This record gives sequence, C-alpha cells and structure tokens, in this order.
Amino acid sequence: MITIDGSYGEGGGQILRSSLSLSLVTGKQFVINNIRAQRSKPGLRLQHLKSVEAAKVVGDADVDGDSLGSKSVMFKPKGIFPGRFKFDINSAGSTSLVLQTVVVPLSLGKSASSITITGGTHVPWSPSYEYLKLHWLPTLQQIGFQFQIELEQAGFYPKGGGSIQARINPASYIRPLNLVDRGSLLQIRGISAIANLDRSIAERQRNQVLRRLGDRYSLNDIRIKHLPARFKGTFLLLIADFEKTQACFFSLGELGKPAEQVANQAVDELEYFLNTNGAIDKYLADQLLLPLALANGVSHLSTSQITKHLVTNAHIISIFLPVNISVQGNIGKPGMVVIDPHQE
Ligand code: ATP
Repeated sequence: MITIDGSYGEGGGQILRSSLSLSLVTGKQFVINNIRAQRSKPGLRLQHLKSVEAAKVVGDADVDGDSLGSKSVMFKPKGIFPGRFKFDINSAGSTSLVLQTVVVPLSLGKSASSITITGGTHVPWSPSYEYLKLHWLPTLQQIGFQFQIELEQAGFYPKGGGSIQARINPASYIRPLNLVDRGSLLQIRGISAIANLDRSIAERQRNQVLRRLGDRYSLNDIRIKHLPARFKGTFLLLIADFEKTQACFFSLGELGKPAEQVANQAVDELEYFLNTNGAIDKYLADQLLLPLALANGVSHLSTSQITKHLVTNAHIISIFLPVNISVQGNIGKPGMVVIDPHQE
C-alpha cells in the first residue's frame, strides 16, 4: 500500500485526484493523509468527494474515509470497469476535474464508457468546458486517446447546474509529445459567451479584446455565443494559434465585475504568455504530465511557467509509475519538462 502525503508541495486537491487516477491505472492501493492541508478549508470538499466517488465506481474500489471534511482516504481498486456513469456534484464543483480523474483510467479499459457529470462547467481555478474541448482534448487525441466531450448545459460559479457528457473509447497506443518550439504566432481567436444575459455584455467583452490586441495581432473570429444554462453567466476565452502549438486562456464574469475587466483578465494572461517563448501554457503543462507518463517514449514540453502545481503533480506521478519527470527551471519562470517513462 502506497502512502501519500496530501500536504506535499502545493498541498491541494490535485494530489488526491492524481492518486485516484494512478491507482486505477496501476491497480496499486493507496492511503492519503493530510488531504488539502495547504488550503484554507482542508479536507475533502464536495468536488473532491465526488472525484473519490467517481473513481470508486469506476474501479469497484473498497474505500475508507470518503466523507465531507475527511483528511484521510484509503483506496483499494479491483480493476477498471467501463460502463455508463452518472455523477452529480450537487454544487458548482468542477465537472472538468471529476472528468479528468476518471477519463485516463477509463481509456485504458477494455470497452467503451459514457459519463454524464452535472455541476459547474465554468468555475474559477479549474479548466472550463471550452478549455477542455478546444485545447486539452485535441492534445490528448493527438497522442492516442479516443474520447469526445459535449456540453449539455453550462453551469457557472456559484450556482452550477451545468452538465457535460463524455464518450470514451479504449486507447490502444499512447504516443509521446514534443512541444518545445511553438513557431510563429498565426492568429488569435476566441469566444465571448453569455448565458441568460444581454448580448451587449458579450459584445463589450469582445470589443475590449479588439481594443487591447487588434492593432498588434491578427485577430480572427472572436465569436459571440449564447450558451444554454439554467442560471446566468459569461466568459471570455482566447486561443493563440502558433505554427506548432496553441495556448488557451479564459476569464469568467461575476456580479459587479465589468465586462471590460473580464476581457482584461484573459488578455493579460495571453500577453504574459506571448512575452515568453513557452510552447504551451502552464495549465496544459500540468494536465499533460499524467497522460504522457503512460506514453511509449520520451516527451519534451516547454512551458511559459513552471508551477508548484506541476512540480507537485510530477512527484505524485513518479510514486505510482516507473517514470522519470525532470523539471528544468524555477517556479514562476518559463521552463522545460522531460517525461521519460522507463520501459519495464
Ligand atoms: P484545491 O481546492 O485544493 O485548491 P482543486 O481541487 O480545486 O484544489 P487544484 O489542485 O488547484 O484544484 O487543481 C486545479 C487544476 O485546474 C489544475 O490542473 C490546473 O491546471 C487547472 N486550472 C486551474 N485554472 C485553470 C485555467 N484558468 N485554465 C485551465 N486550467 C486551469
């Protein structure tokens, strides 16, 4: 039984989610203590508990400590059992993070699966649905994963009420990735979206992007979108397309936050990225570590920013898998990551 210290490094929810995914993938049992010790409200919150529940069902696992507020969980999976699953987070907890917990293990299952997850699809501090669909998913498909995702309804923070669906086919071979040089910037595209709000808000978000970037970059198709949703919300998402890679940033509206400020947040993040020579954004970098640790070969990623999150995730992955992940660079600065799965 592997023992994981949940207070290590970043000390957040990713340590738990990565451990669940890796336990399902390898069949190794684990116990995690000090869950989310570095967060202001430590222990399992609803969103983390739902990841445990999802992994428990997928792995038909014996689990101890799976209750709200728990700081320790023991997880013993019996295998990977594909099927049709429905998980309800019952809050604006991130559907993306629950999906990411089980999608890699289910891709290694022997048959297809489908999942519906209800909760938050556009919430702070996690990938939004479009980040997954337009950025993370195409990269995973490029290395051999075979799944699709669809948005049924958007669920914005703080009310949630959204829903995503995934159809997952088995992945037979996972290829390594070489994302070191991004090449020249080709264009910037994006989405300015609203749900149950006036179109003028989306137009103001878009206009602010045009004001900030229009003179200097080739902007193509900042599209206005009305999303189906039970509650109100807005977001702005920008994708920078380079010759060899892409980077993606988004910001969310909230009550009392002017549309221009929503746009400014995503533009600021994008501009920061453009001023580095990283091939991929800091979020995609940490999200690619686990899938690439299962690849048949060595991957190289250059990122705009090495994060504590990435370094922490690399440590957890190396506990479960025979992989050497070397992170070259300082936290907060651009750097290079080499993921070398040993052939056993
Ligand atoms: P905790 O509640 O303990 O802080 P958590 O479970 O909410 O933890 P983190 O451990 O912070 O989550 O992990 C969040 C994940 O969401 C990371 O993989 C990170 O890359 C991703 N993420 C956060 N913000 C964004 C963003 N703006 N775009 C894309 N991905 C993001």
